[in-house]
Amino acid sequence: MPDFDVLVLGGGPAGVNAALAASAAGLKVALFDENPAAGGQVYRDPVYRAPISSAIPPTGDLQQGDTLRHELDQSAVITYFNHVVWAVTADYRVDAAGPAGPVHCSGRALIVATGTTERVVPFDGWTTPGVIGLAAATILLKSQGILPGRSTLVAGCGPLLAAVAAKIIEGGGKVEAIADIAGVGDWGRTLPAMVSRPDLMREGFHWVREIWSAGVPTLSRHTLVKVEQAHDGLHATLAPCDAAGRPIAGKQRSVVADCIAVGHGLTPSSEITRLLRAEHRYSRQAGGWIAVADQDGRTSRPRLYVAGDGAGIAGAAAAGHHGTLAGLACAIDLGTHLGTHLGTDAAQLRSRVPAARQAHAKAARFGRSMAQLMALRPGHTDSIEPQTIVCRCEDVTRAEIDAACDAGAHDMNQLKAWTRCGMGPCQGRTCGDVAAELLAARVHGGSRERAGCLSARTPLRPMTVEALTGNFSYDDIPIPMAAPL
Ligand SMILES: Cc1cc2nc3c(=O)[nH]c(=O)nc-3n(C[C@H](O)[C@H](O)[C@H](O)COP(=O)(O)OP(=O)(O)OC[C@H]3O[C@@H](n4cnc5c(N)ncnc54)[C@H](O)[C@@H]3O)c2cc1C
Repeated sequence: MPDFDVLVLGGGPAGVNAALAASAAGLKVALFDENPAAGGQVYRDPVYRAPISSAIPPTGDLQQGDTLRHELDQSAVITYFNHVVWAVTADYRVDAAGPAGPVHCSGRALIVATGTTERVVPFDGWTTPGVIGLAAATILLKSQGILPGRSTLVAGCGPLLAAVAAKIIEGGGKVEAIADIAGVGDWGRTLPAMVSRPDLMREGFHWVREIWSAGVPTLSRHTLVKVEQAHDGLHATLAPCDAAGRPIAGKQRSVVADCIAVGHGLTPSSEITRLLRAEHRYSRQAGGWIAVADQDGRTSRPRLYVAGDGAGIAGAAAAGHHGTLAGLACAIDLGTHLGTHLGTDAAQLRSRVPAARQAHAKAARFGRSMAQLMALRPGHTDSIEPQTIVCRCEDVTRAEIDAACDAGAHDMNQLKAWTRCGMGPCQGRTCGDVAAELLAARVHGGSRERAGCLSARTPLRPMTVEALTGNFSYDDIPIPMAAPL
């Protein structure tokens, strides 16, 4: 007999809304997240409510996060925060490591809402201390309330460029420059979707106003090609690039800063559905490999659901509605197929689906247009220099990846076995997407489907042996009686 009807993995907007919908339908639900509280990446709970640096004002994200956390507190959902999920089995047993040691629970159904990982396309010097992810900068700003540096260069692509720059300025920091791979035309194409969300458009204009008022130089169609450490800080070289993200001839600029926040989009965290061998497909627009699912998150495996950005990048608002849909789908399916006693009847649950689908479609339209700005550009990976490290856990360079491809490595798992690319603590979450793009271009004429993806392995996250064993005393270990002589 499983411990719970539903186990939800991930406490962001998708996971929390999935858990709330399933719980409100009368199911016994448990939710796991590695963070101390619900909110996920976007609505994260600040460690310090009062910012410890300058006045970084509270945002709408904080208020939405507080509402989400309050709703979860008021519900019957059992929560396991500060718990890292490190294994999931085919019969939906979840193993997690928490502050009091290992925990395991089983469920009739599993909803995977594990969000995304930030993508950084490598360039010379990207592993230098002081170079951080753009999305990682949002964690510093939102969670710890501190600035990433006294002076920061913000580079890469997507809406986080303006969000991070504005937040640094509001917090009293200096933004030396913003280098955006996207051009004016790319942003122009998002206008119809932006108009559908006047609230988010207003927020965007507010960021732009902050940036203009601070006189920050904004370089459109520019990419970061090199970072060098010098006595006065990090020296970054910015070059003009084409629409494919490839540096082109033209005036290069040098910017000195003590932090460089750079990000090139997000990739869905699909390792759990891959581990469970659900069917997957590659979608450049959705950010990478995602589980094949219907619009309510039902995957190819019975009673396995996906929700939120982990099912394809569509943004926070869409993630919340997608979570509700997955929670409802799960409740409907469990009620129908397993005869589970639900507090709400199936017809009532079904009647909520059309409105949730409509709300999801509207939010996803906006989110996907932003995701389009962050999709991996083929020319960008083309321009990685041979000596540049691609896999930073194992120090594997582009030249080593190319050599393995030329020697016959034809899919990602072969590349991993031959070079150790993706075999380190991050298990390819950081380098996997870029390495696959390089392999696809060199061996398969650009086909990511033929290049495949790294197989997921447990432990899903790096962990200590102590986290697995928990606290114990050697004196408590039963010692068998000595065998009679
Ligand atoms: C670092 C980062 C910062 C971001 N900042 C912003 C931002 O400021 N604004 C914005 O609009 N978008 C931001 N995004 C994009 C953002 O992910 C979303 O659009 C939104 O949060 C998606 O919601 P979600 O519920 O699908 O996933 P998330 O909010 O990412 O929630 C998924 C949760 O699952 C947890 N999780 C994953 N794997 C495990 C595991 N094995 N064990 C335990 N817990 C696990 C994660 O820690 C996370 O809390 C950010 C993305 C990243 C990667």
